[in-house]
Amino acid sequence: MHDVIIIGAGPAGLAAAFWCDELGLDTLVLEQGESVGGQLQKIYNPINNYLGVAAANGQELLDRFAAGVDQADFDLWTNTAIDSVELKARRIRLASGEDLQAIGIIIATGVRRRKLGIPGEDEFVGHGIMESGARDAQLFAGRDVCVIGGGDAAAENALLLAEICPTVTLVHRGKTLRARQEFRERIQSNHCLTVFKEAQVQRILGGEQIEAVEILRAGAIKPFQMAVGGVLIRVGVEPNSELFRGQLQLDPRGYIIANGERETSSENVFAIGDVSSPLAPTISGATGAGATAAKVLAGRLTARG
Ligand SMILES: Cc1cc2nc3c(=O)[nH]c(=O)nc-3n(C[C@H](O)[C@H](O)[C@H](O)COP(=O)(O)OP(=O)(O)OC[C@H]3O[C@@H](n4cnc5c(N)ncnc54)[C@H](O)[C@@H]3O)c2cc1C
Repeated sequence: MHDVIIIGAGPAGLAAAFWCDELGLDTLVLEQGESVGGQLQKIYNPINNYLGVAAANGQELLDRFAAGVDQADFDLWTNTAIDSVELKARRIRLASGEDLQAIGIIIATGVRRRKLGIPGEDEFVGHGIMESGARDAQLFAGRDVCVIGGGDAAAENALLLAEICPTVTLVHRGKTLRARQEFRERIQSNHCLTVFKEAQVQRILGGEQIEAVEILRAGAIKPFQMAVGGVLIRVGVEPNSELFRGQLQLDPRGYIIANGERETSSENVFAIGDVSSPLAPTISGATGAGATAAKVLAGRLTARG
């Protein structure tokens, strides 16, 4: 029996583990990935908004986090798949068959990129699907590319790519771009960038590499093909909360509902970070919530004696 099991080792889970250890709790962290860091591993831009720490990218910030948590004394199991969770009993069954139990569970499973579910989306990973405009700019320089999505992430990547690609086509299914005003203005005045609103990419086509996308525009009967050498998809994120569905209150989009103390609807089960922050997903929010959950749980264990 552990005092606490933390599920997920992104910024939220790491901060919670650090604090749980600091407060003397016997702490186990389960991470499904090969290594810790969560979304930090996918930030290729400078991070200038984590107070007091400027980092050239997510990996640099992660290295600082790792140096901090290295001093702490909690157990961390990476590459660990969870088969099922019984939140009432705070029992976790691993895919390996092992059963674990804790007095408290802190859920820090974050979010994942939403997929379009169209043909070619998975097949061309590594063959023309871009991971990030910042990371892949040089690889795709000189190619015509398509960016799918209409929010800040899509707009920011489209603008980055427009600096090195002859044409960038932004395809968005809504009537207006949701991206912030600054991005919308820069897109409008950029002659390399074309925006197709009320349009959907239906298929990604090619041989070894991406060669074209098939786009259906609103009001059209038939889709048309447009030649491109790369595709970047940014159509939002969704919470990693499936494991807990039916056992916790979730909002209509699947985010875990937690109060100011990060308590969920299940006793001694806390939710922190992006999996419970649909409106304000930030690194500082995630680490702060980790500290809050750890302190509330530690206070409760002390009161129990
Ligand atoms: C490109 C990009 C740029 C960003 N820029 C900024 C920025 O400038 N400033 C800022 O504040 N924020 C930024 N963010 C957001 C920030 O990265 C997130 O808010 C933060 O990472 C959330 O941390 P988290 O720990 O809640 O979740 P995540 O980072 O998503 O980590 C969740 C972890 O849980 C693990 N996990 C999921 N399911 C399971 C399971 N079933 N079992 C075990 N482990 C599991 C995952 O593998 C992952 O390691 C950016 C994000 C991206 C993608």
